[in-house]
Amino acid sequence: MNPIKIVPLPKYCLWGGTRLKTEYNITSDLDRVAEAWMLSPTVETSVIASGEHQGEPITALLEENEDINEVFPLMVKFIDAAKPLSVQVHPSDDFAQANYGTCGKTECWYVLDAEPGAYLYYGFSRPVNREEVKERIENGTLISVLNKIEVKKNDIFLIESGTLHAIGPGILVAEIQQNSPWTFRVFDYQRVDKDGKQRELHVNEALACMNLSCFQAQSRPEPLKAGDGYQIFTMVKCSYFNAYIYRITKSVSITGTSKKWRGILVTDGEMTVRNTKEEEVLPLKKGEFCLVPRNDDEYEIKGEAEFILVD
Ligand SMILES: [Zn+2]
Repeated sequence: MNPIKIVPLPKYCLWGGTRLKTEYNITSDLDRVAEAWMLSPTVETSVIASGEHQGEPITALLEENEDINEVFPLMVKFIDAAKPLSVQVHPSDDFAQANYGTCGKTECWYVLDAEPGAYLYYGFSRPVNREEVKERIENGTLISVLNKIEVKKNDIFLIESGTLHAIGPGILVAEIQQNSPWTFRVFDYQRVDKDGKQRELHVNEALACMNLSCFQAQSRPEPLKAGDGYQIFTMVKCSYFNAYIYRITKSVSITGTSKKWRGILVTDGEMTVRNTKEEEVLPLKKGEFCLVPRNDDEYEIKGEAEFILVD
């Protein structure tokens, strides 16, 4: 079976930019595209863009009695923050399971571009207690106790569930996250939408699932393997997903796994992917995503490109 290309789902948010359309080949009538959902199993189900199931939802790839959450447990997105994102937190598996019957959300960002001086907020800069956080949310001074981190291209941030975070302006990231819909906003810069309304905050939920310790989790791609015309780096390994960054100037081969589908997100350049048992090649360029079928076949990738392999 050949790899399967997926149709991106462009999303509007008031903080979004235009680069996903102009640089990442995302087609949309929206004037600003804040996010492009490259793989979305259930919050809104992705549609297949190539092969015999073209035009059908990815559920068409499931075998009988298979649970989509087992086979595609992740969301993969691009995020283009022209303006700052709200300060937010996502629940843990335990919290989300107990309250909503879903998984929680741990996410990881690979910074594709950052303007000079770009920053994000990540956890607290000093120990705090829940009363202080509540008070600072109410009086609008929460940011003064958050850990403000300078962001550079190719930085990696693992945002474990419970960690308060916010992407600052001028940052474009590739994001991998657990397939969960839960985001609790605690501060949105008093911004209003075109109808003059502020977005809803979820202070009680956020306070209940927030991790109050301070910690640091910025990292850089870690070299894993290199060969003629390719380099492989570890992006992240955690209990929910593994991701590797590939930079190729010629070709590289990968293998599928019989356990789950793997994803390929192209972050730069152009390439082709081919199951070595088949003739047909799947062309992919910057801003495109494909699923690698769940089998032990070998896939040959050729081109000059950077991509993230995730499972
Ligand atoms: Zn988040």
